[in-house]
Amino acid sequence: MTVIDLRSDTVTQPSEPMRQAMSVAEVGDDVYGEDPTVNRLQEYLADRLGKEAGLFMASGTMSNQVAINTHTHHGQEVICHRWNHVFNFEGGTAPAFSGVGFNLLDGEYGTITAEQVEETIRPVSYHYPQTALISIENTHNKAGGTIFPLEEIVKIRGVAEAHGLPMHLDGARLFNAVVATGIDPSEWAEPFDTISICLSKGLGAPVGSVLLGSRDFIDQAVWVRKRFGGAMRQAGVLAAAGLYALEHNVDRLADDHGNARRLAESVNAITGLDVDLRAVQTNIFMVNTSRSGLSEEEVQLKLADEGVLMHPFGRDHLRVVTHLNVSGEDISRAIEGFEKVAEEFRPTGATGV
Ligand SMILES: *Cc1c(COP(=O)(O)O)cnc(C)c1O
Repeated sequence: MTVIDLRSDTVTQPSEPMRQAMSVAEVGDDVYGEDPTVNRLQEYLADRLGKEAGLFMASGTMSNQVAINTHTHHGQEVICHRWNHVFNFEGGTAPAFSGVGFNLLDGEYGTITAEQVEETIRPVSYHYPQTALISIENTHNKAGGTIFPLEEIVKIRGVAEAHGLPMHLDGARLFNAVVATGIDPSEWAEPFDTISICLSKGLGAPVGSVLLGSRDFIDQAVWVRKRFGGAMRQAGVLAAAGLYALEHNVDRLADDHGNARRLAESVNAITGLDVDLRAVQTNIFMVNTSRSGLSEEEVQLKLADEGVLMHPFGRDHLRVVTHLNVSGEDISRAIEGFEKVAEEFRPTGATGV
């Protein structure tokens, strides 16, 4: 049985032409700044996002956390949504390595408002931890691949500027937002001081992220990356995969979005399963299993028996992620898998949320 792996867009395999690009990549010692392929990747993304400089990182976690460390001092605070990756899924790095706390906000679909941010920024007084950074995630992972509207980001930028605060974008999947909205990457990047982009999610590279910002900021971030153990040598072999991904795998993200939409609508039509279709905006969505009469883990295991893999994501929820190794035919088979599993549901009267 072929397995349809909808657990994450991180499971993507480097394609043959991507491996070819890796094998012929020109390399040098990147600690000396002498890897031409790493330099090309950094310049390519800096250019596309309208920033002065970029820095190749081993992971999205490293990229976000080097940014946080560079932006902040011990005892300070980062404002972000309660569901953000930088707070939940990065192993507690910000408090452990940077000595900063989070001031967490709630909001629809992973978003926060300028008004909330304004109310949350600490008064300048030694009684309080001092606000050092505002961090936003786009697209939002835990909210289900949702897009943070640019309009509100621009308003938050206004508040940040009034208080002299920098803004960081966890843009692990920014290119999904770019493809879904048609808004240029540089427009998305404009309100932010720093942006982290993942190459190893839907873009399909095996490893790597890039942090973008001003020349001065990136010069400082080079020190922090070294402290975090992230200075690499002939990393051009990896950067070549990232360049290949950016040149070949951006526009095709639209296919993943179309596949997610079709699967979400079919799953939502099954009695016992609910999908908030308003939240299905890119390549991720959540399935609410509460009306199936089974726990999310029971549903997950039954789907796995049908060869359809996904992750439980909080109580009564499964997360579905489409990506470049999932075809339209796979989506049809996944729908059949869901329909088969639904025959074993013990529907309750309870309404889904
Ligand atoms: C995947 C991801 C990251 C980076 O995580 P790594 O595990 O370090 O690759 C950061 N932010 C978001 C929103 C992500 O989905």
